[in-house]
Amino acid sequence: MGAGERGGERVAVVVAHPDDETLWAGGTLLLHPEWRVIIATLCRASDLDRAPRFQAAARRLGAVGRMADLEDGPEQRPLPEGEVAGTVMGLVGDREYDLVITHGPRGEYTRHLRHEETSRAVVSLWERGRLRSQRLWLFAYEDGGGAYLPRAVAEAPIRTPLPEEVWGEKYRILREVYGFAGDSKEARTTPREEGFWVGSRGWGLGASEGRGGIVDCRLQIADYRVAEGRVEGRGWRVESREVIGRKGRGEGSGVQG
Ligand SMILES: [Zn+2]
Repeated sequence: MGAGERGGERVAVVVAHPDDETLWAGGTLLLHPEWRVIIATLCRASDLDRAPRFQAAARRLGAVGRMADLEDGPEQRPLPEGEVAGTVMGLVGDREYDLVITHGPRGEYTRHLRHEETSRAVVSLWERGRLRSQRLWLFAYEDGGGAYLPRAVAEAPIRTPLPEEVWGEKYRILREVYGFAGDSKEARTTPREEGFWVGSRGWGLGASEGRGGIVDCRLQIADYRVAEGRVEGRGWRVESREVIGRKGRGEGSGVQG
């Protein structure tokens, strides 16, 4: 499907900073030109260097960029949860999505508080049905507690090895649009494989099914192994699942329509 055609899935990517969208999900966005994507960054709207770079990167990724300006000083002072949530809603709360993508609960490297706060706010809004989306993906990367550069988590249910030309375009966006030097941490990180944790309505996240799935993933990384799924068309199929407290339920399906 061409980028100009209507009918692609509506996708919102919610990140803390300009460059997070490219680093952690840029290849996936490039692989889906049919998606109608909004990329929202919670910080740096008034950063005269990074704001225009972000808008240019969003265009290269086939997306519309929206920015807010949460405090983002080097001391990483914790922000009130309500302020983060309100900012998320102000950026992307105006419509329903097929898919929302955001940070993992522990961020992607060790560590940046804004990544973790963004993840918490988006997951909480989605759980409560305020941020409306059929599906939620969280970036699934880890850096061994800082021992190595971030890489996709081996157990993540969605892992997408990027074709060389797609990885190359992602790398060029980081180098040429964002201006990262070749020896910068960002450029050296540029994951060749992208990973995501997954949550879907109809998976038992609602009140009637009890709490499970991605909800529990905030507690321990190991708990993320609640589900192994893969994307199939609009919805997706659960090949096995193990929701905490409800083990061994076997096959299920999250396919919509
Ligand atoms: Zn960041």
